[in-house]
Amino acid sequence: MGEISSAPQRAEELAALARQVNNCTKCRLAETRTNVVFGAGNPDADVIFVGEGPGQQEDEQGLPFVGRSGQLLEQLLGEIGLTRGDVFIANVVKCRPPKNRDPRPDEIDACKGYLRTQLELIQPKVAVTLGNFASKLLLRTETGITKLRGHAYEWWGRLLVPTYHPAAALRGSARVLEEMRVDFSTIQAIIEGKLSRRPPEPAAEPEEPEPDPEQLDLFN
Ligand code: URA
Ligand code: SF4
Repeated sequence: MGEISSAPQRAEELAALARQVNNCTKCRLAETRTNVVFGAGNPDADVIFVGEGPGQQEDEQGLPFVGRSGQLLEQLLGEIGLTRGDVFIANVVKCRPPKNRDPRPDEIDACKGYLRTQLELIQPKVAVTLGNFASKLLLRTETGITKLRGHAYEWWGRLLVPTYHPAAALRGSARVLEEMRVDFSTIQAIIEGKLSRRPPEPAAEPEEPEPDPEQLDLFN
């Protein structure tokens, strides 16, 4: 799909997509949701965050990351000089899986076109995947988040920064939060144009199986 040029036009298309998704019944999650959580924020954002799927509070309010994870996300954004309104926050699936179970492959398949269109319309400089689920999915890898994080990856002609899910920092050690801060400073560097390409691997690290750029086509 060709990139739609003007920001107002892209914002309008994004609003139209939201109206469409709010009525979506393409998978079984439609039966148990209270509200669709399309995502929210700046339609012309430099950075889009991608979580796994709505939890209970998100389902009730129809907004992404409004619970405790969202508060931590907002705090980390604040530390790099951003507010929630500066960025766009979305999820892999737009409807809450019952009892917060993992989204199933057929649900992800049904929903992923919406995330693709969100990315095409918002055209962010950097996509940030929060946690194992979104990171493995978008980078098409089985490598876990602990090994994936700490790098920016070329992805879809832009950059992808995988980091922990805020919930992991809430229940985990101080180290998790500190590593998230490192990843957020990478995000800040990308936004400020100080990092436009994947940084070289630290020499001390053994080579990770990097996701093959040719295979980063989650959405095909
Ligand atoms: N966790 C997620 O992955 N997404 C949300 O929107 C909230 C919590
Ligand atoms: Fe539609 Fe996605 Fe909700 Fe399934 S999860 S009903 S595909 S919006």
